[in-house]
Amino acid sequence: MSNQKIWLSSPHMGGTEQNYVNEAFESNWVAPLGPNVTGFEADLEKYIGQNSYVGALSSGTAALHLGLIILGVKAGDEVICQSMTFSASANPIMYQGATPIFVDSEKETWNLCPIALEEAIVDRIAKGNKPKAIIAVHLYGMPYKADEIHTVANKYQIPVLEDSAEALGSHYKKQMCGTFGEISALSFNGNKIITTSGGGAIVAKNKEVKEKAVFLSTQARDNAPHYQHSEVGYNYRMSNICAGIGRGQMEVLDKHVALRRKMNEFYVDYFKNIDGVTVLAEPNDDYFSNHWLSAIIVDPERTHGKNREDMRLALEKENIESRPLWKPMHLQPVYEKYPYYGKDVAEKLFEKGLCLPSGSNLTEDDRSRIANVLNIFFEIAR
Ligand SMILES: *Cc1c(COP(=O)(O)O)cnc(C)c1O
Repeated sequence: MSNQKIWLSSPHMGGTEQNYVNEAFESNWVAPLGPNVTGFEADLEKYIGQNSYVGALSSGTAALHLGLIILGVKAGDEVICQSMTFSASANPIMYQGATPIFVDSEKETWNLCPIALEEAIVDRIAKGNKPKAIIAVHLYGMPYKADEIHTVANKYQIPVLEDSAEALGSHYKKQMCGTFGEISALSFNGNKIITTSGGGAIVAKNKEVKEKAVFLSTQARDNAPHYQHSEVGYNYRMSNICAGIGRGQMEVLDKHVALRRKMNEFYVDYFKNIDGVTVLAEPNDDYFSNHWLSAIIVDPERTHGKNREDMRLALEKENIESRPLWKPMHLQPVYEKYPYYGKDVAEKLFEKGLCLPSGSNLTEDDRSRIANVLNIFFEIAR
């Protein structure tokens, strides 16, 4: 067996990407607009459905930033954000000079806890500052409790900015992730389920919002022969080269979802006989996760003291990448001074959780190598 690095999640080309990129070169559409951008947007709109309008951008972070701007978030406003997430969910709040209010997760999906969310809203309103938006995340591809979260959001009439960066291909009650928020964000970074090398998209419910996002992403240029600006703009549009990669990736997205789910099944199957290890799983049939990353909780009280860090190091020694879960934002040095609502669910998950190699390009050989390391780690003769 080779000792090549097994990555947590690496780019996986389908084969036709280069044709679209070549087309862009041949027609000289080497710019942040062109037929691939339009084609990629159309492919995404068709895929996620719900009459969505998609604007392709330079990153998922850009999509979240423009989402906050379009929702009217300004300096001094408060924005609620799931604490357990990647920092890119929260950073755009700071770009706007707004204040993040962090909220704990629930134990089933590891996403925003509807009870803690309502506590946070009620308390912020009592303090005289009603939150302007709620950022909810589908972590590792697992849909958040959409019914519960949106019921709370609707009750207080606060728009949800849905961070679906990790959840393209996931759905909840047959509705695609990326279509739940007032505005949603997708990411095509190199480690995501499909990639454009780097890129993202904003998803809107109507044409006007999409057009506003595209306008802001192309320097907010007014309709005039000279360069005329009435608003501050951004350079956030996706290039026609990257979009070409995206068009090719869309052809294999469902295949990649199936392969990531197969990796997840491998772990579910492996750990079912190991006391003290649980794999993040769909709570019931309403949930369908793309299983972008397979994640486990290691409880050292039931594994004879072996913890997730021991496991990470054992894998690393064999050139296999794994990584602790996202460190909650309310525990991050940059964010620890901001308000936090909830208990210690996210904190405990971070303490005990590990993400395992999950790529759609992993082979039978890779799975054997992973199993061998785990067998030795758990001292199993198989
Ligand atoms: C990747 C990611 C983002 C940011 O997307 P980029 O395209 O890398 O800017 C935002 N939120 C979450 C949860 C992510 O995983």
